[in-house]
Amino acid sequence: MSKTLPTVIELARELIRRESITPNDAGCQQLLRERLEPLGFTCRDMPFGEVSNLWARHGTAEPLFVFAGHTDVVPPGRVSDWRYPPFAAEVADGYLWGRGAADMKGGLAAMTCALEEFVRAVPDHAGSVALLVTSAEETSSPDGTKRVMQELVAGGETPTWSIVGEPSSIERVGDQARHGRRGSITFRLRLRGVQGHVAYPHGADNPIHRLVSILAELQRREWDTGDRDFPSSGFQVVAVNAGVGAENVIPPEASAVFNFRYGPAQSAETLQARVAEVVAAYSENCEIEVHDAGRPFITRKGRLLEATAEVVESHTGSQPVFSTSGGTSDGRFIAPAGVEVVELGPTNSTIHAVDERIGIDELPQLVAIYTAVIQRLLSANRDD
Ligand SMILES: [Zn+2]
Repeated sequence: MSKTLPTVIELARELIRRESITPNDAGCQQLLRERLEPLGFTCRDMPFGEVSNLWARHGTAEPLFVFAGHTDVVPPGRVSDWRYPPFAAEVADGYLWGRGAADMKGGLAAMTCALEEFVRAVPDHAGSVALLVTSAEETSSPDGTKRVMQELVAGGETPTWSIVGEPSSIERVGDQARHGRRGSITFRLRLRGVQGHVAYPHGADNPIHRLVSILAELQRREWDTGDRDFPSSGFQVVAVNAGVGAENVIPPEASAVFNFRYGPAQSAETLQARVAEVVAAYSENCEIEVHDAGRPFITRKGRLLEATAEVVESHTGSQPVFSTSGGTSDGRFIAPAGVEVVELGPTNSTIHAVDERIGIDELPQLVAIYTAVIQRLLSANRDD
């Protein structure tokens, strides 16, 4: 039996046992560093604020291939609901169980083992390979991948290709990969009115009435119909607040929080302009706060996409479906530097849920696929 199987599973278990709830790394990055440093990787801790980041690179030449991921996990919720304790990393019934098993300590273990296998097999490889890990992906911290990428680009270490080992697959490893994501932008709108008695509304100004009209108009609009690669852009209200707690008082204020997930047919700027237009039609006395959480990105073609499709097909029998569905990911901080980005990882049906788990078979499969992709890109200097 190959040595890969116990190694990658044991590494995933060691990572799961470290209770690295966002933004705590809990020693996960140190563990990865201890494995890569003896193989000749130059490792750099890049802490910013409360966030731990690790940059480990083998080689100094270009092109630069980067595996990206995160060590942090979401909280387990009620521990008694779990079949096995969430940080015990139990192996049973063909699965490795625990918080982070799929999102994304399994992928992290597989990426690390693939790097180990690759540099052992091809020590004088072309270009460079690297691992970029943060401890604050789940909170979308600006001190995580976003900040590390800024430092790397400023220091002349812009990656050429990046695989983000997030759980992208649906039923089996490699059936789906992501080659882009929609953008996300959140608005916090606060309207001010004039408080008064509901029986004497003439001197009052009800901000709830204005707010309801604004939200209804935004909700009614068809923003776009999407395109070949992106689903249509969507608007969702996530919070509404108003009222003073009495049934006979028009409140002085009303607020709402709403979010857009959008494709390239929109932009953060056009959405802000449209929202401002609609708001202005109903209210002048207001404040709008905007959180521009991530722009849409997509890798439509390139050697990484080709290599991923070919390798997944040769290992599983069919090519992955490339999709831009789902939420945001740290790919949004990597792609804008001109990097080809693909997200490819284990199955995602239990992520963030109770009884999160990864199929034991998925781990060595991922190691084999990841290793073969790097080999295709960097074993020889292909000029085709
Ligand atoms: Zn994740």
